[in-house]
Amino acid sequence: MPTPTLTPNLDPHALARDLSGKLLIDGEMVPARSGKTFDVVNPATGQTVAHAAEGDAADVDVAVQSAAAAQKPWSKLSARERGRLVTECGRRVSEHAEELARLVALETGKALRTESRVEAGIVADAFFFFGGLGSELKGESVPFSPKMLTITQRDPIGVIGAIIPWNVPMMLMALKIAPALVAGNTVVVKSAEEAPLAVLRICQIMAAVLPKGVFNILSGQGPECGGPLVAHPKVGKVTFTGSVETGKIIYRAAADKLIPVTLELGGKSPMIVMGDADLDKAIDGAIAGMRFTRQGQSCTAASRIFVHDSLHDAFVSRLKARVDAMKMGDPLDEATDIGTIVSRQQFDKVKSYIAIGTETPGATAHACSALPTDGALAKGLFVQPVIFTGLGNDSRLAREEIFGPVTCVIRFTDYDSVIEQANDSEYGLAATIWTSDLKTALDATQRLEAGFVQVNQNLVVQPGLSYGGVKHSGLGKEASLESMLEHFTHKKTIILNMG
Ligand code: NAD
Repeated sequence: MPTPTLTPNLDPHALARDLSGKLLIDGEMVPARSGKTFDVVNPATGQTVAHAAEGDAADVDVAVQSAAAAQKPWSKLSARERGRLVTECGRRVSEHAEELARLVALETGKALRTESRVEAGIVADAFFFFGGLGSELKGESVPFSPKMLTITQRDPIGVIGAIIPWNVPMMLMALKIAPALVAGNTVVVKSAEEAPLAVLRICQIMAAVLPKGVFNILSGQGPECGGPLVAHPKVGKVTFTGSVETGKIIYRAAADKLIPVTLELGGKSPMIVMGDADLDKAIDGAIAGMRFTRQGQSCTAASRIFVHDSLHDAFVSRLKARVDAMKMGDPLDEATDIGTIVSRQQFDKVKSYIAIGTETPGATAHACSALPTDGALAKGLFVQPVIFTGLGNDSRLAREEIFGPVTCVIRFTDYDSVIEQANDSEYGLAATIWTSDLKTALDATQRLEAGFVQVNQNLVVQPGLSYGGVKHSGLGKEASLESMLEHFTHKKTIILNMG
């Protein structure tokens, strides 16, 4: 198989122009059948940096047919060989890590140093982690009867439709496609309207390694491109990350076809700071957990911080001082800590929540950091992070996912009631507790209703750790061996009568 090597392009503007107007279908970079495109805007300046191809049902059909044709030959390779090829994708992606980090910073506004480089590193790790798991696709021998040999095996599902959001597009794509491919499936990805470029570049890199059709990517609008992908008769499973609203639409459409879905949805994650917590570490945890560096655009954002009465005032003033010291600016500037909001629509949504909070009687808005003064960034979608105090867990800001740099610090005195408040949410993605008491920590891990509970730390998603939510935060797990086995294969039982 030819494996041409692409040269990394560290100029994200030039790369964005090169990727304009292209989808990757059947191993080739092609325009949308309709010839339509949509603008990709740099949220730090308001300038259009690319015209992404606008795929629709016609492109979906060609991509799915290509993936379906490639699936049998791909599944006939040994699992180890598929794993080797996925690992090779990871090696090449890691050679392009800086290029990818710059490109995703350009299209999403995520700061290069604090966010985009971190994401690019995890992408390669995802390929390496799953690339090594080919030999785990094993079955069992079941002692059912001495006269029968009963075994199970893991078969691929077929063609997987993967729909991804814009906040960590490269990582979320890699965590879906790497296990799907190693398990013997082929894939069609639909990228998010706001962030189609870096993921397309990853696919272009992968196309030099994988057989044609094994992997395809489309950019386009949700209902017009994502909708037909879910509905296509040859798509055997959908894996989706995005909002609860879209997740429900996809779940209904999948129900009509009786196909399985994995849904990674929103969150309103609680962070509990007990009176005996190490305050400095808890503040570090709040900054990491809230992902101020990404303007809070994280599904696991610690957007409800419950702080014990004895630490509340010190916590708020020190957290504000720390966020004040963070520099907001051009995402591509090495000195920048905090980038921009991704889109005008998201910017307006965040601003409206800040207005709601500010107008709530008894609430105080502590705006942090400073907006950039550089004239080139005058049209940039920058929002000052806001820490709200004086809002209850029943306020809209504490109940609804904002997906912006807005957190509520809520005072508490009683442990049982704070656990109850933490669980009083329609979401259940992540939760953390900060305490020096082992018994409290253990008790909280048992009582907090979330897919991911952490004590005295705030770790980001890591390949290998099972990740996913409960309640409205989703269905199913990603990022782990279990996700590959349970979500990208089905178990076939084989019985041989030995009589
Ligand atoms: P979104 O639901 O608006 O869009 C996500 C994807 O779905 C996009 O590619 C979009 O084009 C597509 N889509 C939209 N309508 C569709 C339809 N009718 N049919 C098929 N596809 C459709 O979400 P978003 O604004 O891009 O992302 C933010 C959301 O994602 C937040 O709620 C956040 O919490 C969630 N998220 C969850 C996780 C997690 O792991 N749980 C991770 C990141 C983001």
